[in-house]
Amino acid sequence: MTPAAFVRLDLEAARHNLAQVKRYAPDNKIMAVIKANGYGHGMTRVATALDLADGFAVARVDEGVRLRQAGFKQSITVLQGFVCVDELLQLLKFQLAAVIHTPQQISILQQQADAEGKLAVWLKMDTGMNRLGFKGADFNVAYQQLLGCALVEQPINLITHFANADDLLDDKTRRQIDLFNDAVKDYPGACSIANSAGIIGWPNVRFGAAQHRSNDWVRPGLMLYGCSPFAGKIGADFGLKPVMSLHSRLIAVKDVAAGETVGYSGTWQCQTATRLGVISIGYGDGYHRHTKSGAPVLVNGQRVTLIGRVSMDMITVDLNSQPGAQPGDPVTLWGDGLPVEEIARQADTIPYTLLCGITQRVQVIEQ
Ligand code: PLP
Repeated sequence: MTPAAFVRLDLEAARHNLAQVKRYAPDNKIMAVIKANGYGHGMTRVATALDLADGFAVARVDEGVRLRQAGFKQSITVLQGFVCVDELLQLLKFQLAAVIHTPQQISILQQQADAEGKLAVWLKMDTGMNRLGFKGADFNVAYQQLLGCALVEQPINLITHFANADDLLDDKTRRQIDLFNDAVKDYPGACSIANSAGIIGWPNVRFGAAQHRSNDWVRPGLMLYGCSPFAGKIGADFGLKPVMSLHSRLIAVKDVAAGETVGYSGTWQCQTATRLGVISIGYGDGYHRHTKSGAPVLVNGQRVTLIGRVSMDMITVDLNSQPGAQPGDPVTLWGDGLPVEEIARQADTIPYTLLCGITQRVQVIEQ
């Protein structure tokens, strides 16, 4: 019996996508970004599939600890670093690398000079994202302070993050690149700039700060899961294969007269007599509540359209094009010819949200 709602994970596709990153950035090390439960795919599952990556990146200390406890030996970078002594001690204990982005973190490192171990660090430059990192002269001051920290492993690595790399026409990315390259060119540590959009869309920054530096790292996230970081494109446009597909089944089929409304708040009114299908998936599973009427759904592999509001456990579709469909028939919400990027657009969101939003009650089938 197939579960009511399940995701199928094609881990071979994840490995293919990693190889594709390597094709885009052949001279770089790859830090596979597997935060937020591996973008909803399962952090340790993805790490196992991507064991050929040179390292992993997570957002938070607890994610890094879990990854280490699960036995992964690769370098693990905690992108948000630490905010207190306890977290720093966890990083040291589990040999996790930290991004350093505030003066407070440096003070903690100075105060904890006698702590056991060495902390690998990525000093973050804020090149225009205005989120984490040091700007201008503060970056150089932070660098000098870290040089003097007994606890800090040398050399100090350097990192920045793009704000708009998915917009190839936005000059901001070029300015971020120039700022970073100029600031770090004489520093001996490794450099890292590019996320998925940078890797695919800004070929001259794939190699980090300077093209000859083979110890620089790229940081792909979304593309490892087979998705396009660019609006209006899908992963296949860049040789990527989707890892996750979301499935359910029809649980009821009924005929509704013209003029009747469907679902909560009656947002959809049937213009003609409508054969309606009810599917066992909803926002309680991670099917986005803002997915619009008209969004495609596959029933028995054929496209039909969503009508009415998405509820917690159910959605409704127009089955007039498939009058023979029956309760129990298979449904695909995304994957297998229905790109998650297309569904994200229908929900006025980005594929990241949909992948990360899959909830606990959705069963996972690996293939
Ligand atoms: N680097 C940092 C600092 C990030 O926060 C993220 C994701 O948000 C990534 C890399 C990976 O980005 P993407 O999933 O767009 O490749």
